[in-house]
Amino acid sequence: MFAAEANAFDTVILDPGHGAHDRGAAIGYVYEKHLALDTARRVEQLLKQQGLKVIMSRSRDVFIPLQERSALGNSRRGAIFVSIHYNYNRGGSGAGAETYYHFSSSYMLAAYIQAYLVQRTDMTNRGVKSAGFHVIRATSKNPAVLVECGFVSNSTERARMMTGEYRKRIAEGIAQGIIAYRKSK
Ligand SMILES: [Zn+2]
Repeated sequence: MFAAEANAFDTVILDPGHGAHDRGAAIGYVYEKHLALDTARRVEQLLKQQGLKVIMSRSRDVFIPLQERSALGNSRRGAIFVSIHYNYNRGGSGAGAETYYHFSSSYMLAAYIQAYLVQRTDMTNRGVKSAGFHVIRATSKNPAVLVECGFVSNSTERARMMTGEYRKRIAEGIAQGIIAYRKSK
């Protein structure tokens, strides 16, 4: 399947996962939808400080269908798409960060974000992985990745991600990865 080559970009489309009735991963009152939105807002500020344009798929606690998210991802040239999520597994043993891509033209973006995210947070490196999640499969006109910023289901990681200082470091890692990827172009 054809996917656009990864060219120079000046716009970053940030996609905080879930929203409204779709909480995503949830333990007690810690909801993935809130963590993802807060993290994306922090990334937004950091990228704007670097002179990049940022478009958010949501900046409030609202439900956005997956098709709308990928339509936004394809909606303009000279953009990249970054979906932000937090992870979950049964039993709570899962730990660390991982970044997903679908098209090979998105691999380098995933690799840069994963490297900087792990470096900035010291999270376990679960690596860069290929998957068919809707938002990275249907966003075919721009590089598109999905970042899992640690496990809500892991009590140690959950305690960290509940602090603004830690979410700030996650956001810095993602933003630094995007900036480094852009410089590599
Ligand atoms: Zn999610």
